[in-house]
Amino acid sequence: MPKKLRHRFFIYTMDNRRIYHKDEIIQVDITDIADGGEGIGHSDGYTLFVKDAVIGDKVRAKIMKAGRSYAFAKLVQIVTPSEYRTEPRCPIARQCGGCQIQELSYEKQLQYKQDKVRNDLIRIGGFPPELIDSVMQPIVGMDDPWRFRNKAQMPVGCGGKDHKTPVAGFYAGRTHSIIQTADCLTGAQGNSAVIDAVLEYMKEKKVPAYDEQSGKGIVRHVLIRTGFSTGQVMVCVVVNADSLPGSERLIELLRDIPGMTSISININKDRTNVILGKTTKNLWGSDTIRDSLRILSDDFSYSGKSVEFRISPRSFYQVNPGQTEKLYSLALQYAGLDGTQTVWDIYCGIGTISLFLAGSAKRVYGVEIIPEAVADARSNAELNRITNVSFETGKAEEVLPAYIQREKESPDVVVVDPPRKGCDEKCLQAILHVKPQRIVYISCDPATLSRDLKILTAGGYELRQVRPVDQFGHTVHVETVVLISRKDT
Ligand code: SAH
Repeated sequence: MPKKLRHRFFIYTMDNRRIYHKDEIIQVDITDIADGGEGIGHSDGYTLFVKDAVIGDKVRAKIMKAGRSYAFAKLVQIVTPSEYRTEPRCPIARQCGGCQIQELSYEKQLQYKQDKVRNDLIRIGGFPPELIDSVMQPIVGMDDPWRFRNKAQMPVGCGGKDHKTPVAGFYAGRTHSIIQTADCLTGAQGNSAVIDAVLEYMKEKKVPAYDEQSGKGIVRHVLIRTGFSTGQVMVCVVVNADSLPGSERLIELLRDIPGMTSISININKDRTNVILGKTTKNLWGSDTIRDSLRILSDDFSYSGKSVEFRISPRSFYQVNPGQTEKLYSLALQYAGLDGTQTVWDIYCGIGTISLFLAGSAKRVYGVEIIPEAVADARSNAELNRITNVSFETGKAEEVLPAYIQREKESPDVVVVDPPRKGCDEKCLQAILHVKPQRIVYISCDPATLSRDLKILTAGGYELRQVRPVDQFGHTVHVETVVLISRKDT
């Protein structure tokens, strides 16, 4: 421990470095955004993370926790607001854990995401800045960054003075305390009517909300999904019971909401944070809703083709359909198919990309670890009468080497869309082993993308195209689609 000396009321180390202490208030210029959405400022050799501060702000912030070289601080006052600062549309933007950067103008959010991808490719991927600048296209933003989410999962809990009034909303950042609201401005317009109806039913029928502390009570979550292209709405109430008392009244209140197509309960009696249980019981209407995603041409206009999906409460489905159409249409473009190629779609989920590519490929093989997703992928292929796709269940890193040995057929194009942790090294080696002409990498984390691209380019590939796509406005997340192809082509 360095010896501490007192100088006025500040604390200094022997080598004259200031030590921050809790509750100290300091003034700092915010120059960047952290991965968690906090504003970043530098002062006295410290990196400060200030929640709710945005790039360009000069702020006064109170130290909450200080390490040796970094500190977390709470915004006390905006001394000079940033030119990029904007009034958040949502009244609970600061408390809610959903949006981290809603107070930054949408244009600046997009710029930040574009820079993040570029910087990670340079810093982690080791690519020269000139190369990145020659292959990278501007981020694809949303035409309207509001009302874009087709799915809402709202927790229901006990509120009011008596801790008995049912309330619904969203969790505050990093906690399980519910910030009460019936609406989210990034969600579908109809969600608030659903929440109001569920709460009214609970009050009328005296159905208690689930209490996480005691494990008692019934209603845990309300899941709402909307098919944006069909207008169909699905409501699934997650309950800590085998049935929902007086559910006829809930149906009465819900069924006249425009688009209502499916009402169900999902049974979850486990004391965990997992939202959905294994069993779903249909109460009214269909047990699925439908939606379709359009395949777009080069300039993102509709190509006349689309893919249809059947969605159940438990199935995975892309959350921002408008931007998914753009992202997967770009992947189709990058794949450069003319009907003669064999394609692997690795980490294929419910087969969205496979089905996007199938019309332009000879054959598509999808690999996915979750059996239910593979079942959905197969039934979606059937729904669209697509016959040149097949899906295999298993870990990509295990399925691929076995597949290569068995089939002795190499793909022309490989598409990967892995989770945030990126591709398994064995999966990358299997791809390098079969030497596809093109690899299209869709990523939700620029850091792991950059790490994996470093390996793939060292294995004989060259970076050809990079394009970020904004799927989640007002958050720090960014998707990227990348094309690499064999050096010798
Ligand atoms: N393109 C898909 C979504 C991909 S999300 C779609 O639109 O449906 C990433 C997928 O990778 C998830 O479905 C996840 O279940 C799957 N996954 C995760 N680890 C895997 C592994 N080791 N092998 C195969 N699939 C995996």
